[in-house]
Amino acid sequence: MSAARPIVALKIGRAKYKVRYRRLLPHNLGRLFFTTRSIVVDDSQSDFDRADTLLHEILHAVWDQHKLRARVSEERAVTALATGLTAVFCDNPGLLSHLERLIRDGR
Ligand SMILES: [Zn+2]
Repeated sequence: MSAARPIVALKIGRAKYKVRYRRLLPHNLGRLFFTTRSIVVDDSQSDFDRADTLLHEILHAVWDQHKLRARVSEERAVTALATGLTAVFCDNPGLLSHLERLIRDGR
């Protein structure tokens, strides 16, 4: 873990997710649990990869929030993800700078 203070909660759409950091099984860098509204990030990764994983799980939550199907047109998917991600950054001040710190310092 870096010196960057971890993100412990995120508002994504109308839902509030807890964010936890712990060791996950191999090949499982992150998980999103809809039942408990929680995101788990494997903390054995580099900071850079933890930023990637956190964004990955956020996008799964946005995908769900916008009720995208497994197969959806590229334009609809990109539009929903961009709109959803912009709202996530708006609703979670400090998230962007946190990700930037992880990405910049943590390779
Ligand atoms: Zn995934």
